[in-house]
Amino acid sequence: MTARATGVESIRVEVVGSCPECGSGRLARYAVLSEGGWFLVLKCQNCLHSLERASWRALGDVSRLGVD
Ligand SMILES: [Zn+2]
Repeated sequence: MTARATGVESIRVEVVGSCPECGSGRLARYAVLSEGGWFLVLKCQNCLHSLERASWRALGDVSRLGVD
């Protein structure tokens, strides 16, 4: 139950695309810890608009992104 993934920001993955809000091409996917547990989000790095949000557990292999 202990979240040992410190330094979560370091596993941010850049994604090619464009933000529907501001048109920026700077999108990134990364994990965030919220009250429902870990979520993998896709956010615009310019305006922080959330394009996607998915439960970490639903994604199985996501731990292989390099949390260690
Ligand atoms: Zn944006």
